[in-house]
Amino acid sequence: MSFIEDIYKAGVVGAGGAGFPTHIKYRANATHLMINAAECEPLLFTDQYNMENYADDIISAISLAKSKIKADKATIGIKSKYIKSISALQNAIKKQNADVDICSFDSYYPAGDEQSIINEITGEALPAGKIPLDMKIIVSNVSTMKNIYDATRNIPVTEKCITVTGEVVSPSIITVPIGTSIKECINLSGGSSIEDYDVIIGGPMMGKLLLKENIGTTFVTKTTGGIIILPKDHKLITRRKQSIEHIKNQASSACIQCTFCTELCPRYLKGHPLKPHKIMKAFGFGDITNENLKQANLCCECGICELYSCPMGLSPRMVNAHVKTELRKNNIPRENYITDEIHDMLIYRKIPTSRLISKIDIEKYYKIHDFNILKSDTDTVTIMLSQHIGKVPTPVVNVGDTVKKGDVIADLSIDDMGAIIHASIDGKVTEITNKDITIKKVI
Ligand code: SF4
Ligand code: SF4
Repeated sequence: MSFIEDIYKAGVVGAGGAGFPTHIKYRANATHLMINAAECEPLLFTDQYNMENYADDIISAISLAKSKIKADKATIGIKSKYIKSISALQNAIKKQNADVDICSFDSYYPAGDEQSIINEITGEALPAGKIPLDMKIIVSNVSTMKNIYDATRNIPVTEKCITVTGEVVSPSIITVPIGTSIKECINLSGGSSIEDYDVIIGGPMMGKLLLKENIGTTFVTKTTGGIIILPKDHKLITRRKQSIEHIKNQASSACIQCTFCTELCPRYLKGHPLKPHKIMKAFGFGDITNENLKQANLCCECGICELYSCPMGLSPRMVNAHVKTELRKNNIPRENYITDEIHDMLIYRKIPTSRLISKIDIEKYYKIHDFNILKSDTDTVTIMLSQHIGKVPTPVVNVGDTVKKGDVIADLSIDDMGAIIHASIDGKVTEITNKDITIKKVI
């Protein structure tokens, strides 16, 4: 089988973001393969765990991918403070005599944004509205490379490594079958240490809110990287619960147009025509056709503007997310954005992680370094059909079928923008809906 077929058959998607199908990404040729190992969301240690434990696999996959896409260079972008990870990667590079560079940089947020990785490695900025391939670059998350390595050995993606932290009895790095409930993941880590909590799935800055009452009916996917348990009154929880009407009222009544949100925006600082203070004004007072609202398409939703910059506690990021959806719904096309020079202040306005964690009130959890390392099985999994960007695969099993871990349960063609789904445990298919497939172990 070819490299692309291996990845397609293993159902690999980007492990660090929205789940872009990897076999589609690697069909292109590029001159530079960049590996995003920055893991810039505070509290997450999943990528570091993979680098420390699977460095040989990761470097093998990088060398192979580099040759397949005919790249001249492969560079891993990583924070210099990840000393153990860097050491493991360097040892693997030496052992394999691999032609892979390491580019290390300060601990700031959002160092792991694709655009920051490109800027750190090349000194250049990706033009607004463009994708890395427009610069002949492919960027992949470091944990995706581990999955690519497994794919070349015919091991499909059926497990996920996740950091479980925050208000939990034993903060843990767990490896569980895809489809395990979030509740089970929390229980594996000793359960929550408090009664009144909600959960963030992902990192504290960009992760999604999951209410406590839904933890039993929400399941691990190929892109789940973190489960963070926080008190219901923690600001990272309450900010995510605001209604868009409330946010709009705030934008029109409390935004003082101080421009701090713009001055610290990492996309604006890279020369992109994104000025969140202008979007706030247009959103508060205008309608969806206001020209300034089109800038929202350039927002990566890193959250710096609303969780770090704004002195009034407003939510430009949530406004941008809402505006993007409205622009799509109203068929308002993206512009040909004009990119400016990189801002002179970019290097001085990177937000140090240490300052960010204090601002968002997670210092208490950031100090946790003593993680339980657990690998666990489960009796029941509910595997989502849509765990990635693009086409949803079609179930190829029926209720009552017996399946083995690694069997294909939902399929699509290699030319489809999507990913195959596999059974993550041995068992019997007990339910199929238009959203998911449930498998129970036969006792
Ligand atoms: S930082 Fe806050 S108050 Fe200032 S312009 Fe931006 S949204 Fe308005
Ligand atoms: S979330 Fe805010 S700071 Fe981040 S890219 Fe969007 S506008 Fe800029």
